[in-house]
Amino acid sequence: MNPKTIQRVAEAGVVGAGGAGFPTHVKLQAKVERVLANGASCEPLLMSDPFLMEEEADRILQGLLLVMECTEAPRGTLCLKGKHRKALAVMQEKVGRGAYKDIDLFELGDFYPAGDEQVLVYEVLGRVVPEGGLPLQVGAVVSNVETLLNIARAVDEGRPVTERYLTVGGEVAEPLILKVPLGLSVGEVIGLAGGARIQAFRVVLGGPMMGRVVSDLATPVDKTTSGVLVLAPDHPVVRDKVRDPARLRNLTRLACCQCSRCTDMCPRYLLGHSLNPHKIMRQIGSTAPAARAVQMDALICSECGVCEKYACPMMISPREVNAQIKKELLAAGGKRAPKKEAYQPSAFREERKIPTRRLLDRLQLSRYDGHPRFDTRKIVVNRVEVPLKQHLGAPARPVVKPGDRVKAGELLGEIPEKALGARVHASLSGRVTAVDGRVIIQAGEG
Ligand code: SF4
Ligand code: SF4
Repeated sequence: MNPKTIQRVAEAGVVGAGGAGFPTHVKLQAKVERVLANGASCEPLLMSDPFLMEEEADRILQGLLLVMECTEAPRGTLCLKGKHRKALAVMQEKVGRGAYKDIDLFELGDFYPAGDEQVLVYEVLGRVVPEGGLPLQVGAVVSNVETLLNIARAVDEGRPVTERYLTVGGEVAEPLILKVPLGLSVGEVIGLAGGARIQAFRVVLGGPMMGRVVSDLATPVDKTTSGVLVLAPDHPVVRDKVRDPARLRNLTRLACCQCSRCTDMCPRYLLGHSLNPHKIMRQIGSTAPAARAVQMDALICSECGVCEKYACPMMISPREVNAQIKKELLAAGGKRAPKKEAYQPSAFREERKIPTRRLLDRLQLSRYDGHPRFDTRKIVVNRVEVPLKQHLGAPARPVVKPGDRVKAGELLGEIPEKALGARVHASLSGRVTAVDGRVIIQAGEG
């Protein structure tokens, strides 16, 4: 462990950029055998990670070395897809020699969800993370490549996290990869890509599989925003995400034919976990003790969306039902102990991996696929709304008040005492005009 590195990472407010925003300084306190750098970029259309590996290779590898040092891991592995040829070629030139001699590469197949932490660990190490568990339990830590970049910047330059790389795509004039200040509105991001090409549209924040539809164009970009996708309101990706949850649950109960395709294709079931979504669907609404025991399995669902978007012939959503059950169980303090001690991945796992190309076709997104250009222009911003919660855990405690002047990089929110959380910093110099779950900064306010 290197307390100085951990302190700098905490000071800079680094959180997992690829998922739920787990505070990185907490993750770094583990001791493991291997650190996996996650560059899988498995959500269709999202391209900022391959771009970063092309352009910021040394910074990412330095971040990986820092995580290896903290966790005392003798080896680090950069995981990326062979289809990202340019990123692969850049990294191949660097790893395994000089300062990076303890780092190797793992070439992932082009399937979904290759970047799911538990799938990635099995692909690279051949170890199954226990159901409901963490990679740490099988000797690994997984960090997204943008997180590694932020770690290197925090430690070497004392630079806090105030920007986010993201893909803006779909029905925009020019799909782009952008680096934007945290707190910039989704509407402004779309404007930077030349605006929407269609009059009526909806916005998916994140990827088409796991992202969410936002109705308010003022929604700010935060540390976990990997994509802004503009799609027609009747596009299947949007339609599935805006269905009324209660109606969908009822529909699933009525329409499920118990074909078990959702289970056959479920990436967690295929790893040998006890998750059988078709059995949960059979028990919707039942309060019998045996049914409740089956419903508890929803807690080990990753919400990857394979069942909903790819497997189910009835076009219903085990993912949504699981998400609802999970929410209810967690609110009631529900905890689930693993049902197994050893895990045997399915013999059919390889053949049931979903090729990204086929997934894109199924999602009707193939026409938007490509490698968007990185826009290097300097983005001038007049106003940001920086959320005090951009991470897993407690919201940051504001340390500024309306009327204060702040400089870009200055602290806006501190981790509450003894809580899991992350610091939040100003992404713009100006005057604070409001503090209420977010900090609004207006540039140039005298
Ligand atoms: S969303 Fe569906 S496919 Fe994905 S882990 Fe959950 S049950 Fe399995
Ligand atoms: S795939 Fe659809 S219809 Fe088949 S068991 Fe799962 S939820 Fe039911």
